[in-house]
Amino acid sequence: MSKRDYYEILEVDRNAGPEEIKKAYRKKAIQYHPDKNQGDSKAEEKFKEAAEAYEILRDEQKRSRYDRFGHEGVRGAGGFSAEGMTFDDIFSRFGDVFGDTFGGGFGDGFGSFFGGTQGRTARQVRKGTNLRIKVKLTLNEIVNGTVKKIKVNKYNPCEACKGTGEKDGNSNKDCPTCNGRGTVTRVMNTMLGQMQTTTTCSNCRGEGKVISEKCNECYGEGIVKGEEIIEIKIPPGVSEGVQLSVSGKGNAARRGGINGDLIVVIEEIKDENFIRDGNDLIYNLFISVPDAVMGAKAEVPTISGKVKIKIEQGTQSGKVLRLRGKGIPDLNGYSKGDLLVRVNIFIPKNISGEDKKLIEKLNQSDSFDPKKHKQESIFDRMRGFFS
Ligand SMILES: [Zn+2]
Ligand SMILES: [Zn+2]
Repeated sequence: MSKRDYYEILEVDRNAGPEEIKKAYRKKAIQYHPDKNQGDSKAEEKFKEAAEAYEILRDEQKRSRYDRFGHEGVRGAGGFSAEGMTFDDIFSRFGDVFGDTFGGGFGDGFGSFFGGTQGRTARQVRKGTNLRIKVKLTLNEIVNGTVKKIKVNKYNPCEACKGTGEKDGNSNKDCPTCNGRGTVTRVMNTMLGQMQTTTTCSNCRGEGKVISEKCNECYGEGIVKGEEIIEIKIPPGVSEGVQLSVSGKGNAARRGGINGDLIVVIEEIKDENFIRDGNDLIYNLFISVPDAVMGAKAEVPTISGKVKIKIEQGTQSGKVLRLRGKGIPDLNGYSKGDLLVRVNIFIPKNISGEDKKLIEKLNQSDSFDPKKHKQESIFDRMRGFFS
């Protein structure tokens, strides 16, 4: 379906000022409001269409892009689509538009204004706050996965009152103001006719329950400071900065709500042998000049023990040998990274007189002339990287 022109939707002039646009949108929103047009999908469409138009035209930057490039100019990041949004979403987004019509907002967004309680859970359930902890892991733990037992300081439910906050563990009473519903509905007469407003009950703050006598242990909060030893399962393949969420292991909620979550942030302990590059590991191997020239066997550490590798005769510095599957397992799959062994030829800084003579002799040798072998050696290095 092609989109209609935003100015057309709101029935405003292209030169309309911000106030005019706001007014026009308010008019449309009220005209097509779902409560006034129950079950009318055309009205719903128009309602959302108006919200989308307003979203663009109320913003100076988006509006100027729209003026210049049309719908294309405001699509994606800069744009907005009411598609998939609920009415409540739209109201909470544009609540300020409606607030002044009726002498100030109701503190609970616009959704409550029209009594749009269908689909809303009347009573609000508390959720405890999330906790964040950092966990340091060795490379070995990252490769194999691990289970960590960590003592966490957190809010736990108060035992004396079983988390209710009520003295002697009695259960909370229904709030007398809202009769336990958590919301208060009022009918008011406005210039647009009779309107029903539903707001969060201020007496119980939407919980529907109140305390009659506070527990002495937690002062009616239902939670107390404490600690818990929490077992955290860490899968293989995590990396620095990865966050794992342990559901329900955060702070307990006040007076018997849902626990928050424990967010575990991964930190890597630097390994003495390996440098991590994604799922690959890099190991810097140092060999002597004679070994590089003559070839040799070298021992290389891997995450699963030491292995012997063959250094070919005439190995150039910087050559990379790839040991497949000796890297880190992928967090989300079955694949594994590789171990890249980077060969470095160790050049001694101080040499004895005897060795010095040898080196000087080598220097005169034709096979040590770097100009002659430059291209070959560069090619060798590249092959090492891509093999
Ligand atoms: Zn208590
Ligand atoms: Zn209440």
